Amino acid sequence: MAEQPTVLVVEDEPAQREVLAYNLEAEGFRVAKAGNGEEALMLVNEAAPDIIVLDWMLPNVSGIEVCRQLKTRSETRGVPIIMLSARSEEVDKVRGLETGADDYVVKPYSVVELMARVRAQLRRTRPSTVGERLEYEDIVLDSDTHRVTRSDHQLKLGPTEFRLLSTFMEKPGRVWSREQLLDRVWGRDIYVDTRTVDVHIGRLRKALCQHGGDDPLRTVRGAGYALG
Ligand code: CA
Repeated sequence: MAEQPTVLVVEDEPAQREVLAYNLEAEGFRVAKAGNGEEALMLVNEAAPDIIVLDWMLPNVSGIEVCRQLKTRSETRGVPIIMLSARSEEVDKVRGLETGADDYVVKPYSVVELMARVRAQLRRTRPSTVGERLEYEDIVLDSDTHRVTRSDHQLKLGPTEFRLLSTFMEKPGRVWSREQLLDRVWGRDIYVDTRTVDVHIGRLRKALCQHGGDDPLRTVRGAGYALG
């Protein structure tokens, strides 16, 4: 089983919101729900969604405005947004407005189609959550079977080290701060000391070199850690 991605559903109509949440949960997603734009903008930090499904027609703050605001914040800019709209003319308008939405789906949509769109976005931004195989040099991580190999030797990794490695392998070269790794690997609702990150990085390093090879993890003084 791949790591469960979180989807934030923003829809003011309760029945539509619940159906969407139900279907996403049935597909193995974690779901956070917001009934309007203000709630979505507040909830986004706490829920730390991997993707947002956002209705165009919302009271007060419209879906377009929510989208525009999320795409200007550095913390949420990289989170894909799929906009839902009632008519195809609206979709054309959204495209024309360059709100930064990553995809658009016209209502009524088929659940199968929406799920395919959600997965397509996640394959691009969070490949380890949709069972993709990740490769970095001689390291191969299969997020579906939880197997990691290096130069074809299978590596023994604890669950936390596996999630750490998935995070690094999704974006080789990116420097992650300890706080960012805590959010991504441990989740925001759990209190863990940043020193715990160092402990698990140490274990991951050891695991990656258990059959030889150089340490691929880089410590960036004052900033955090990176793969490569
Ligand atoms: Ca609506």
